[in-house]
Amino acid sequence: MNFYPHRFVHNPYSFFVQESATAAIFDRASQLKRAGKPVISLCVGEPDFPIPTPIKEAIIQGVENNNTRYTPTAGLFELREAIAAKLLRDNGLVYSPEQIVVSNGAKQSIMQAMTVLLQPGDSVLIPAPYWPSYRDMAILNGAVPVEIPTQIKHQYKLTPDLLHGYLSSATKAKILLLCSPSNPTGSVYSRSELKALVSVISEFPQLFILSDEIYEYLLYEGEHVSIASFPEISARCIVINGFSKSFCMTGLRIGFAAAPLRISTELIKVQSHLTSCAGSLSQVAALAALRLQRESLSPMLQQFKERRDLVCNRLMELGNCVEFFTPQGAFYVFVDVSRVLRANPAGIQSDTELCLFLLENHCIALVPGSGFGCPGALRISYSISKMQLETAMDAFVKGIQTISSTP
Ligand code: PLP
Repeated sequence: MNFYPHRFVHNPYSFFVQESATAAIFDRASQLKRAGKPVISLCVGEPDFPIPTPIKEAIIQGVENNNTRYTPTAGLFELREAIAAKLLRDNGLVYSPEQIVVSNGAKQSIMQAMTVLLQPGDSVLIPAPYWPSYRDMAILNGAVPVEIPTQIKHQYKLTPDLLHGYLSSATKAKILLLCSPSNPTGSVYSRSELKALVSVISEFPQLFILSDEIYEYLLYEGEHVSIASFPEISARCIVINGFSKSFCMTGLRIGFAAAPLRISTELIKVQSHLTSCAGSLSQVAALAALRLQRESLSPMLQQFKERRDLVCNRLMELGNCVEFFTPQGAFYVFVDVSRVLRANPAGIQSDTELCLFLLENHCIALVPGSGFGCPGALRISYSISKMQLETAMDAFVKGIQTISSTP
């Protein structure tokens, strides 16, 4: 028997990358679906709305115009100009088109930013719960992911004291990841919260900030503030954003990074060897998206908000069995179920077991918090129709009530 599988792996970094913690849930959910069970997925990571018609038309026009060749590595100049204008208008950020690198999705932009910034042994600070790819991308780049557990009483946001503590002890901290609005919690950093973090960051000049703002437009209350808008640290920020979530363009794969020139130049070099450029038709689609009036997204936002409220109202029926807060953005509610697990009524020991129980017995699929570095919680995605959501929340409430009342 082989106890040393790493001997057979050429790259030690890829060996340590974890398989998705949700694989067990997804596999079982598809088995059940194939067996004809009416499984409703609350795992969805993309908007369930179609792309706006003007974007579809722009793609068709792009085909007619033969926009099917390589573009410049960093993206069509016109698109980068439009992104720069967006960053100024929405976020008060001043970038030239040369500082913007369009990629095949925010995921690629984050990976490339890490490749450019990290040296083997550097640490990447990741507030938990987090989007899992941050951790694995850090590992793939030879760095050490340092998870910073946050608390529900702070809506899972990093506090200045917490950050200061980690920065003081993690001497090789090179990158801090921030995601607002957040996947998986939907929480949003306010201007004053960011300001307090900025004053800590100012003490640590070696640190770069990767600010993932992909859910920027999916905001139901308050304002979106980019940490890069604080002049004290703007030269150390890389803003990541994209079109997947705001414009329902997940399959078109378009994201971007906005960075100081010395970094954008490096990003372009890396991208030139990975994908040459982002898909040309998708870039045409992104340009059309930026030409839309932002108000045209209001009907989608209204529906997401109603669904969010539906989920939160139903969760209230569970009293203090569960803990949660009403998120301001994205399309997720993150629910702390540690009380249910502590009581351990039906022998359910972990969030993953609880998800499997809800799947087997109540036909709903959810992602366990441990997949996001936060065991004892579950993520509910409300990117499904209201009707389905009603049914799924009936099942969720019933499932939790059943196990909570098991003698
Ligand atoms: N960042 C976060 C927080 C996400 O949730 C996702 C997708 O789920 C991404 C980045 C990647 O987005 P893209 O589709 O642009 O690669």
